Amino acid sequence: MANVINHLHVPLLAETDLLVIGAGSAGCVAALAAAGQGPELSVMLVERYGFPGGTSTQMLDTFYGFFTPGQTPRKIVGGWPDRIVNDLDRAGAVFLRPNTYGAGTGVNYNPERLKLVWDQLIQQYGIQYLLHTTLIDVASEGERYACVFWNKGGFQKVLARRVIDASGDADFCHLAGFAYEIAGQREPAQSLTTTFRMSNVDLDEYERAGGKKMLAKKMKEAVDSGRHPLPRKEGSAHEMNAQKCISTVAVKVAGLSALNADELTKAEIEGRRQSFIYESFFQADVPGFAQSNIIGLSHQIGVRETRRVYGEHRLTKDECLAGLLPDDRIFLCGAPIEDHRYDQNGAAETYWEYIPGSGVYGVPYGTIVPKNSQHVWMVGRCFSATHDAHASCRSMAQTMSMGQAAGLAAVQSLQSDEAANELTIARLQEDLLRIGAVLDIPDDLADTSRDGWKNNFPSRIASPSSL
Ligand SMILES: Cc1cc2nc3c(=O)[nH]c(=O)nc-3n(C[C@H](O)[C@H](O)[C@H](O)COP(=O)(O)OP(=O)(O)OC[C@H]3O[C@@H](n4cnc5c(N)ncnc54)[C@H](O)[C@@H]3O)c2cc1C
Repeated sequence: MANVINHLHVPLLAETDLLVIGAGSAGCVAALAAAGQGPELSVMLVERYGFPGGTSTQMLDTFYGFFTPGQTPRKIVGGWPDRIVNDLDRAGAVFLRPNTYGAGTGVNYNPERLKLVWDQLIQQYGIQYLLHTTLIDVASEGERYACVFWNKGGFQKVLARRVIDASGDADFCHLAGFAYEIAGQREPAQSLTTTFRMSNVDLDEYERAGGKKMLAKKMKEAVDSGRHPLPRKEGSAHEMNAQKCISTVAVKVAGLSALNADELTKAEIEGRRQSFIYESFFQADVPGFAQSNIIGLSHQIGVRETRRVYGEHRLTKDECLAGLLPDDRIFLCGAPIEDHRYDQNGAAETYWEYIPGSGVYGVPYGTIVPKNSQHVWMVGRCFSATHDAHASCRSMAQTMSMGQAAGLAAVQSLQSDEAANELTIARLQEDLLRIGAVLDIPDDLADTSRDGWKNNFPSRIASPSSL
């Protein structure tokens, strides 16, 4: 364990049964799923930025992974992720985005609304919630973990009986000495992307001119003619949940590590530079964009993968492509392998490989348990998978599903005194099914029309009765 700071001298901020580190899509759902099991156990959620959501609110606006891609879409995720979509709907901010970019039908939301939804649910469920607070060290104190945080008040310590690492970068597991692979050590790491949003777009004119197909043609022409040095020819732009606005996944920054502050600084600068090259291209070349401009860059450059913790089980590409449904599965995934990388000639490309057969595989419990861990789980983009399996299983419906399973597993472990790596998985699966998680491929096809989500997202999770 790192134990750089003498934690015995650090003031105690809180003692908690369960500490969740990082309020991204995985961490928020982990904390909610745990707190949703009842008020007997205390749950604390700590986040380094001033708002919840991580990647889901810093830079994106579409949940992928709820539906399988292709002509026979099935909805394969449920439970807390449904509840999030329902609450977004109550705020009037959801539509289904057609399957235009390969990953299947997406659930489009307004990311600023989503911040509010996370905030409100976290408060409703009595979770102790601390923003602007960063984990910087970990030690053991008796049976508990002493987690040292830094915020403007100085160093502060939280003593926790169980910990869920939802930091994306596996900061807790790194500091606590669990083994991991760093993306890029074997296969090239997936590239980094600053997303940007443009306003005052004439979407009718854009669609009349050919929409997505026309955009791809214009990008290719711009690169081939040398007029605009775009890093990608297949970058995407899509309608947002705000009038006359689009959001993009187009910038590509490769070969720089998000775990190295110097390289991350260079990546942020490069991401911003590329964004404005795209702005010039859109304004000059793309019908509908003449009067538009950038109104927002992502809060930070988007990071697809850094540390991937070695778990009790490591998900592999072969398992995904075989469409296995192992007995110890805790959620399903049907997303293709989507690897943002560079080809042999140095050109940016996105490699796609779809799940054959049923188009779905099950993800084993061991992928969210660090090897030999008794009291710790890791969820979200630091879960246990090889590079290519991770490239399939990282959409937000899946990261929320990991959080849901870990939250329930932590409560079960506290109640029954079972170790994380010896948990009775049948009981966890019962709890998952009770709140609406999907563990078997449904027979029925999903309605993926624009408002079709209304038929797809039954929420079995009631709000606390004290409200
Ligand atoms: C550019 C890009 C485009 C993508 N497009 C899509 C898409 O369209 N749809 C989709 O479904 N998926 C998409 N993905 C994948 C998906 O967004 C991520 O895999 C997922 O959001 C990861 O969620 P997470 O909760 O694991 O991590 P994060 O969202 O990264 O959350 C981690 C949280 O932990 C906090 N944190 C980190 N370190 C600490 C610390 N030391 N102390 C306290 N807090 C800490 C962070 O601030 C953050 O809030 C995309 C990813 C990227 C990068």
